Amino acid sequence: MYRRVAIIGGGAAAAALLSELAERAPPGAALHLDWYTGGGRPGRGVAYGTDSPRHLLNVRAASMGMFTGKPQGFLDYARRLDPSLAGTDFLPRRLYGDYLESEVARALALARARGVDVRVVPFAADALVPEADGVTVVRGEEQARADAAVLALGALPAQPLAGVDADALAGGRYVTDPWALLAQPSTVPAPEQAVVIGLGLTAVDVLLELAARWPATHFVALSRHGRLPESHLPAASAPADDGGALVDALREAPQLRRWLRLLREAAAASADWRTVIDSLRPHTQGLWAELPAEERARFLRHARWAWERARHRMPPQVAEEITALERAGRLERRRGRVQAVRAAGADRLRVTLAPARGRPAQTLEGGLVVQTVGLDTDLRRTAHPLLRQLVVNGHALPDPLGLGVQAEPDGRLRHDGEAWPRLFAIGSLLRGTLWESTAMPEIRQQARSLAERLLAG
Ligand SMILES: Cc1cc2nc3c(=O)[nH]c(=O)nc-3n(C[C@H](O)[C@H](O)[C@H](O)COP(=O)(O)OP(=O)(O)OC[C@H]3O[C@@H](n4cnc5c(N)ncnc54)[C@H](O)[C@@H]3O)c2cc1C
Repeated sequence: MYRRVAIIGGGAAAAALLSELAERAPPGAALHLDWYTGGGRPGRGVAYGTDSPRHLLNVRAASMGMFTGKPQGFLDYARRLDPSLAGTDFLPRRLYGDYLESEVARALALARARGVDVRVVPFAADALVPEADGVTVVRGEEQARADAAVLALGALPAQPLAGVDADALAGGRYVTDPWALLAQPSTVPAPEQAVVIGLGLTAVDVLLELAARWPATHFVALSRHGRLPESHLPAASAPADDGGALVDALREAPQLRRWLRLLREAAAASADWRTVIDSLRPHTQGLWAELPAEERARFLRHARWAWERARHRMPPQVAEEITALERAGRLERRRGRVQAVRAAGADRLRVTLAPARGRPAQTLEGGLVVQTVGLDTDLRRTAHPLLRQLVVNGHALPDPLGLGVQAEPDGRLRHDGEAWPRLFAIGSLLRGTLWESTAMPEIRQQARSLAERLLAG
C-alpha cells in the first residue's frame, strides 16, 4: 500500500477518489492524503460550481451517484430533500454540487475516524517531479514527497480561437471562459446583440442564462453545422438490447466508414436511435482501444460533431426553452467557421466567417462574443502551468490527437516509451486512451479501480 498519496484537482473526480480511499482504507492503515484542490469549493469543480437553477445535469438523477456500488446515491440525497423527485429527472447541477460537498464532508469525517490523515491544501500544485519510487509535488516554496500522485485536473483552461486579434481580447468583449462570465454577469452591460461561437451543451447553458439576464438582447449562435445537441426523450428509454450484436459487428473490422454505416442501419431498425447510442456506452472504451490511430483521426475530423450531438444530449425542458427563444426571434442559428474576430469601434466586435462553397465571407457584429467550443484537452498548446511543466520537462506526453495525455488504460502516464509506475491521471485527461472519460459514470469507475490499486501498492 502507498502510505502517502497526492491528489491534485478540486472537482468531482478528485472527490470521488478521496471518498473511495477513505471508504476502503483498512482500519489502522497509516495512510496520508495530500489533497491540492486549486481553491474554490472542494468537490464542485467547473461543472457543479454553477449557482444557476437553469443549469441542469444532462444525465438522469438515478445514474449520477458518486460510487459504482451506489449509482442511486445522488437520487437518495435529492429525495431526502424532496421525496417527489424521480430517478428519470434532470436535476440542477448546483444540487449535484451540494451532494458532492456533503460526500466530501462525509469522507473527511470517515477518514478521521479511521486514522487516515487528510491534508487539504486549498491551492494549485505548481509542478511535479515523478520518479520510479515516488513523486515530488511542488507548491510555492514547499516540496512534498508522495509515494504516488493522481492528476484529476478536468478539462484545460480554454484558449482563444486562432484568428481572434489582440484588440478584441484586450477590450474584454471577447469571452474565452464563459463560466467566469456567468459567475459575474453584472460586470458586463447588456449588449444589443451577442454572438455565441459553438452550439454544444455549454452554448445552451450560456444562451439560457444570458437570455434570462438580458431580456432585450438578440443572440446569434454559430457552428460549422449550425445544429444544436439532440434532446433526451422525456422518459428514459432503456436500450432494446445490450448492444452485443452491434458491438460484435463493429469489432469485426474497426473502420470508421463501416462503423458509421452499421450505426445508421442499427438506428433505422430501432424504435428510437437513442437506444442504439446508449447501448454502446459500456463498450465505447473497448471499441476506441481497437480503432487504429488513423481511423481515430478520421473519426475526429468527420464524425466527432455528430457523435457529440447524439451522445451528449439536452434535457427535454432545456430543448423546449431553446426552441422558445428561437420562436420568439431572440435566437438565430448560423452555419459557419470563424476566420477572424476584430474590434469594430469601441463597443463592438466583428466576427468574420470563412467563405464556404462559393458563398462570400459573411460578417456578424456583437457587443459581446462568447466562445463555447467544448472541452479543451489539447496539451500541445495549453497554458495550464502544471501540465506545461510536465510536458516541457518530458514527464508527460501530449496525446497526438489533442485528447489529453498519453497514458495506460489504468491511468499511468507514459513518457519515453514507458509508463511512470506512480503517476496517474483520472477523468478528461484520459480521453486519448479511453475516449469516454469525462462524465460521472466513467469517472466513478476509474476512482474505484484507482483507489483499489493505490491501497494495494
Ligand atoms: C458544464 C458542464 C456540465 C456537465 N454536466 C455533466 C452531467 O450532467 N453529468 C456528468 O456525468 N458529467 C457532466 N459533465 C462532465 C464533467 O466533466 C464531470 O462530471 C466532472 O465534473 C469532471 O470532474 P473533474 O474533477 O474531472 O474536473 P473539474 O470539475 O474540471 O475539476 C478539476 C479541478 O481541478 C482544479 N485544478 C486545476 N489545476 C490544478 C492544479 N494545478 N492543482 C490543483 N487543482 C487544480 C480545478 O480548479 C478544478 O477545480 C459536465 C461538464 C461540464 C463542463
